[in-house]
Amino acid sequence: MNRGKLIVVSAPSGAGKTTIVKALLAKYPGLLFSVSATTRSIRAGEVEGKDYFFLTRDDFERKIEAGELVEWEEIYGNLYGTLKSEVDRALSQGRVMLFDIDVKGGLSIKRHYPDDSVLIFIKPPSVEVLRQRLLNRKTEDPTAVAQRMERVAMELEQGTKFDYQVVNDDLATAIAEVEKIVTSHVHIETTTTS
Ligand code: ADP
Ligand code: 5GP
Repeated sequence: MNRGKLIVVSAPSGAGKTTIVKALLAKYPGLLFSVSATTRSIRAGEVEGKDYFFLTRDDFERKIEAGELVEWEEIYGNLYGTLKSEVDRALSQGRVMLFDIDVKGGLSIKRHYPDDSVLIFIKPPSVEVLRQRLLNRKTEDPTAVAQRMERVAMELEQGTKFDYQVVNDDLATAIAEVEKIVTSHVHIETTTTS
C-alpha cells in the first residue's frame, strides 16, 4: 500500500485557499480533509468536526500537553493546530490528505514529514485585492481585517519556502493549477470525466 501524501495549502487569509480546497474536495472524493482544532468561534455555515473541532482554550491546551498536536500556532489571538490523529489516519491508510493551515504550520508539517508532504502557497494578485476580498467576505469586522493584513508580509516571505506558488487571480485557473500539482504527485479518482 502507498504511504499516503500530505498536501498543504497555505495562503494569507482571504487569498482563496478555502475556496480552492473545497473545489478540489468536491471533485476528488478520495481526498481527505485534515480537520484542525481551533479556539476561535464558529462562523455561520461552519460545521463542528467538518470545518474544525471548536475547542475551549483549556481543552486545546490539554491536547498540547497530551502530545495530540503535530503543530499549533496562535493566529489572530486564537489557537489553531493539526491533530496527530488526522495525519496518522492519512499515512496509515495510504490516503491523500489536504491541509488548510497557515504558512508556519505548513513548514512544520514539512519538517516533521519531509518525504510525505507537498507545500502549495496561494498568493493573492496584490495586497489591495486581498484586503478587498476579506472585506467582501464579511466574516470579519474592519478591525479583524486589519489584524489579518498585519501578517501578510510575513506570510508572503515564508511562502517563498513552499514547494509551489500559485497566484489566485482567476479562480478557475488557480484551481486548475493546484489540481495539476496535486495530480502530478498522487493518483486520485475524480467524480467527473472532464
Ligand atoms: P481564505 O480561505 O484564503 O481565507 P476564502 O477562500 O475564504 O479565503 O476566499 C476569500 C474571499 O475571496 C471569499 O469571499 C471568496 O469567495 C473570494 N475569492 C476567492 N478566490 C477568488 C478569486 N479568484 N477572485 C475573486 N474572489 C475570490
Ligand atoms: P480561519 O480563522 O480563517 O479559518 O483561519 C485562520 C488561519 O488559521 C488560516 O491561515 C488557516 O489556514 C490557519 N489554520 C487553520 N487550521 C490550522 C492549523 O491546524 N494549524 C495552523 N498552523 N494554522 C491553521
